[in-house]
Amino acid sequence: MNILVTGGAGFIGSHLCRLLIEQGHKITVLDDLSTGRYDNIKELEATGKLKLIVDTVNDSEICDRCVREADRVFHLASAVGVRLIIDQPVHTIESIVGGTETVLKSCARYRVPFLLTSTSEVYGKGSKVPFCEDDDTVMGPTSKRRWSYATAKALDEFLALAHWTETRQPVVVVRLFNTVGPRQTGQYGMVVPGFVRQALRNKPITVYGDGQQSRCFAHVKDVVGALASIMECEAARGQVVNIGNDEEVTIMQLAQRVKEMANSTSEIKILSYEEAYGEGFDDMRRRVPCIDKANKLIGYKPSRKLDDILRDVIEYEKTQLER
Ligand code: UDP
Repeated sequence: MNILVTGGAGFIGSHLCRLLIEQGHKITVLDDLSTGRYDNIKELEATGKLKLIVDTVNDSEICDRCVREADRVFHLASAVGVRLIIDQPVHTIESIVGGTETVLKSCARYRVPFLLTSTSEVYGKGSKVPFCEDDDTVMGPTSKRRWSYATAKALDEFLALAHWTETRQPVVVVRLFNTVGPRQTGQYGMVVPGFVRQALRNKPITVYGDGQQSRCFAHVKDVVGALASIMECEAARGQVVNIGNDEEVTIMQLAQRVKEMANSTSEIKILSYEEAYGEGFDDMRRRVPCIDKANKLIGYKPSRKLDDILRDVIEYEKTQLER
């Protein structure tokens, strides 16, 4: 098939493109290279099976041209990373809401199946463990810029599901929980690449808050496998599906594990949220996915544990450092 991957030069997007090429597909990547990097897909472009278009998903003419020739659209283009979202709230909202509207409009015009990558942020400050797809979302106040991301993504979900309801336009919404692996940049605040870089340089590992907040980290390879399967799953159409790992770890435990696995002499340093992000920040204590629905639909079961993930990221960051 001809497959369009928006945001295909990003961290998750580039892993997805590699998998889809291995499955025999031809890929068009639409990416403005704002947070994505050409380096991520350079080798794939060289195979002749991937065509890169450097432009924004907010341009309706470009989007329409790309979608018209596609058999499937994976929509990953989006502002990412808590740091970037706090620093660039206008860009965050415009790219998420405007971009999805534009891509979806063209998909609906040509009836091309559409997969939206949404986020576990949509559950907001909900305290339920684990989070299931039909649980209530609990958003923080509009004065905390962090919530602009979740609210914009929730609107994207509504829009995608509305197309399904009104015209049976094939859509599926995937809520990604924390996804990590090689090539993720720590630049926009993601904790795992950040900790690994600090540890490898024997610099302080910066734990924000009290470090007792927890997350569940999934390996990007498990995640992109699930994305490819869900796209082809008829029963998932018009549905929201969580994808992630349900192995929970506190951020303090994560810091200790990274330090140990990287053989680092770094100190573990606690910073307040205020010191780390300034104003406009709010954190959530726990975030665990219920992955029963994904398991039922596509037999999803994450195959890589936290240590496998950390090993891969440390390995990758070491080669980057040597370069
Ligand atoms: N975090 C941290 N130190 C860092 C970066 C992040 O302690 O250098 C914390 C952050 O406050 C949050 C957790 O690690 O509690 C996960 O952060 P990330 O930005 O990776 O993802 P998200 O908050 O979206 O889960």
